[in-house]
Amino acid sequence: MLSPEKPAKKSMTKEGKGVKSSPAKNADSPRWQKRRPAAGLLCLLPMMALSAAVLAAPGVPSGWEGWLSLLAVWGIFNFGFARILSTGKVEKWRSFFFIGVSFSFIFYFLSFVREYAALFASQMEFRSGDPVCHLVLPFLVVPAILSGEIFYPGRMTGSFGSVSFMFLAWLVAFLTLGRAFCGWGCFFGGFDEAFSRLRRKPLIKKIPRILLDFPFVILFFFIILSAAYLWPVYCDVLCPFKAVFEPGRLFSGDFFLLVLSVILFVLLAVVFPLLTGKRCLCSFFCHLGAVQSLGSRLVPFYVEIDSRKCKNCEKCFDNCPVMAIEGGEVKRVKEDICVRCGRCVDNCPSGAISFRLKGVPLGKKSETPKILFLYAAFTFMVAFGGRICAGALEKMLIWLF
Ligand code: SF4
Ligand code: SF4
Repeated sequence: MLSPEKPAKKSMTKEGKGVKSSPAKNADSPRWQKRRPAAGLLCLLPMMALSAAVLAAPGVPSGWEGWLSLLAVWGIFNFGFARILSTGKVEKWRSFFFIGVSFSFIFYFLSFVREYAALFASQMEFRSGDPVCHLVLPFLVVPAILSGEIFYPGRMTGSFGSVSFMFLAWLVAFLTLGRAFCGWGCFFGGFDEAFSRLRRKPLIKKIPRILLDFPFVILFFFIILSAAYLWPVYCDVLCPFKAVFEPGRLFSGDFFLLVLSVILFVLLAVVFPLLTGKRCLCSFFCHLGAVQSLGSRLVPFYVEIDSRKCKNCEKCFDNCPVMAIEGGEVKRVKEDICVRCGRCVDNCPSGAISFRLKGVPLGKKSETPKILFLYAAFTFMVAFGGRICAGALEKMLIWLF
């Protein structure tokens, strides 16, 4: 027997997950661009210039492999941005780049294994030249205030990856993107995103929302430990990414910690995302996500549901990868959790969800908030991830030729 709500025509989106109707042309669809392709080009040209500038900022490459890689990455990113502008769909290309940056990062980082193999016997010697990981930043602040020193075996100033550069980059992300950093900028976030997208229908559908508070527990607990030991303790004992990015542990005798990080990474970035369809590492564990949540209240961009248009189909509630949508009769996006990935905006069948700019009243149809947000987020993505992709491609070309 057909249920009254059952639509006559079924179609599956890429995300699937039981979605039964195609999204209607929504409020964010780029009708303006179909009428005025010149306007679309005008939106693209500044991004082409901006992305070229941020890609070139760390310095020009030396060989042809470097130049070719940089040019290819610039072209692919701008092609993606052009497709976002022309289709009005954000999520597909964002996800492609976001996941691509994370996996490029593994390849790029581990390509140094050969070059630095001799140093792995002495882990601290290797780490003294490390670029600083943005995840450690919250744990440097309190020890720095208490002691007047920054306790991290990395470069303090002078280059891409130094403590001062990363702190500045994080501050800009905090103030302009907030939690959108977790959907556009963080080069670790693509792992659980990739695995959360693999299954069409999640096996586990009910997840207690209280888990969303756990990153705050980790944040405060390890801030206290860092202050007590004057050292970023989290970095040494709990970081799941050590499983992937610090093979030196294999040589340093830290077997227990290596096993712990492997278990955490496999469970949080692979197994749970596969089972739930959610970004479990970022949502239920990452302390930097908790910090970015605080910034989300300051940034001007957010995602909002127009309850007058909402048909309560639950599609956005089911599909949000970070559980940012509160269910019930009236759907609401929690701006401190939302990573502004655009999935709900692209797929809402009644066009009820849109990118918004604070101060612009709901109901006022405008592409401007979306374009402004895309500029901020995409520029950050290219700046944080573009050079990583180019580096990975360059390594590949060098090995091939
Ligand atoms: S906003 Fe309403 S209509 Fe749109 S996907 Fe969410 S529940 Fe469905
Ligand atoms: S609420 Fe929408 S834009 Fe925000 S994280 Fe969820 S799916 Fe992405």
